[in-house]
Amino acid sequence: MAGRLLSIGECMVELSQAGEGLLRKGFAGDTLNTAWYARACFPSDWSIDYFTAVGDDPMSMEMLAMMEGAGIGTDLIRRIPGKTPGLYLITLKDGERTFSYWRDTAAAKKLADDADHLRSAIDGAQIIYFSGITLGILAPEAVDTLLAEARRAKASGKTVVFDPNIRPRLWHNKPYMLKTIEDGARASNLVLPSFDDEAAYFGDTDEAATIARYKALGVENVVVKNGPAGVTLAFGSSPTVHVPAMKVDKVVDTTSAGDSFNGGFLSRLVQGATPAEAASHGAAVASTVIRHHGALISPDLLPK
Ligand code: ADP
Repeated sequence: MAGRLLSIGECMVELSQAGEGLLRKGFAGDTLNTAWYARACFPSDWSIDYFTAVGDDPMSMEMLAMMEGAGIGTDLIRRIPGKTPGLYLITLKDGERTFSYWRDTAAAKKLADDADHLRSAIDGAQIIYFSGITLGILAPEAVDTLLAEARRAKASGKTVVFDPNIRPRLWHNKPYMLKTIEDGARASNLVLPSFDDEAAYFGDTDEAATIARYKALGVENVVVKNGPAGVTLAFGSSPTVHVPAMKVDKVVDTTSAGDSFNGGFLSRLVQGATPAEAASHGAAVASTVIRHHGALISPDLLPK
């Protein structure tokens, strides 16, 4: 059955060291990464569309061209005259990556300002995907707009998927962050948290605690990702299932592990796989991504 997945969030310009005082330019962002892997893994009769706001500068145009080149739909992306995209720089020091951000005035912060446009974009999709980073970049009124539309989508029977992706530096205060993450989960029927984040900010002691907490908020389906320890799934009233991760001898770069898992997982779910089968595919995709440098690896490298 054909359909459309709408991924909502921020894509940024990424600058990384390329030696000799040179910087390499790329584009990335959690929700874009998931759209990329969804495009690579979903059946071709599904559209994968990205929803954000960009400026009208050359960098914004290049960003859109990159998405289009990957087969990700950009028609719903609003272009705001005079704005520019957010930017981050990765610096390597003693093998550790440090991130510096310039995103306070990024066009993407305005992605939910046109509520009618957001609503019609959501109306045209069967799966709506967003994250805690999407919520973290928005002003409180824009968070309310986005969550109201997500709740409306859920109530009308759409699949609303939320990855909490908790990033404290995006939020002004911790209680508001935790409350808003919970509101994001409540507006969704499938939540895909990473255990490390949930343990650090909600104090969960194990995956079962994360599942119980989201179930108590009324979330029907929960998939807790826990790196090499695999994933734990609680779908509807079915018993909790554990799906192991693939064994990876040499991890090169874990950037996008969770995002790529999500894309691979959803691609199998829409084709009628069981949640456990879908999670195995998500794990196979993520295990391939972490064997390579960068957030976005070539679709040719991914398992079929
Ligand atoms: P996030 O990137 O959101 O923190 P995780 O670290 O839980 O998410 O990783 C997501 C998925 O990537 C895991 O469920 C697993 O399938 C895969 N993965 C991550 N790290 C490893 C690893 N060291 N070995 C094998 N698979 C891994």
